Amino acid sequence: MTFLNPVIKYKKIVPEIFKEIPDVPTHSKVLIIGSGFGGAISAWRLAQAGIPSTILERGSYWPISKDRATFSDETIPDGRGYWHNKKIKLLNGFNACVDDFGGVMDVTSYEHIDVWRGACVGGGICYFYRGYDSARTKIF
Ligand SMILES: Cc1cc2nc3c(=O)[nH]c(=O)nc-3n(C[C@H](O)[C@H](O)[C@H](O)COP(=O)(O)OP(=O)(O)OC[C@H]3O[C@@H](n4cnc5c(N)ncnc54)[C@H](O)[C@@H]3O)c2cc1C
Repeated sequence: MTFLNPVIKYKKIVPEIFKEIPDVPTHSKVLIIGSGFGGAISAWRLAQAGIPSTILERGSYWPISKDRATFSDETIPDGRGYWHNKKIKLLNGFNACVDDFGGVMDVTSYEHIDVWRGACVGGGICYFYRGYDSARTKIF
């Protein structure tokens, strides 16, 4: 199967992710790696305490709007959904080929388990299933 160059293909759909990356400060008191729940909350709390921080994120910032589909859906997946992973296993058990691209989810398959991790600005926040477990006081 021949794929179009993913850069050409996705540039038409989400040009924002190909914009030049802003310069990071040459010095930062705090450096946070990753912009998921952990990184984002740390940066927020530090900002509240008056301590500026820099977040370094490997993935893109994917804009979401009502007037276009930023991502493909599960039925016809593509590289926007996966972090440099050409062969993926879908939730229905079938395998699919996608472009080698810096999509939003980093999946590693092991024999009996697949591990899904965030790979975009917001990390796992971007595809949170909206399930919550209330924090038990004895844990905190
Ligand atoms: C599909 C899915 C659904 C989920 N649904 C729920 C739910 O309903 N309820 C619930 O409580 N939890 C849910 N989770 C779990 C939740 O999203 C994670 O527990 C949470 O995102 C973990 O936060 P984190 O900050 O540790 O990591 P992440 O959110 O994964 O953030 C880590 C960030 O670090 C970046 N990063 C990694 N390595 C580097 C590097 N070397 N340099 C720069 N950046 C890097 C990644 O790109 C990523 O953005 C879900 C997870 C997934 C995958």
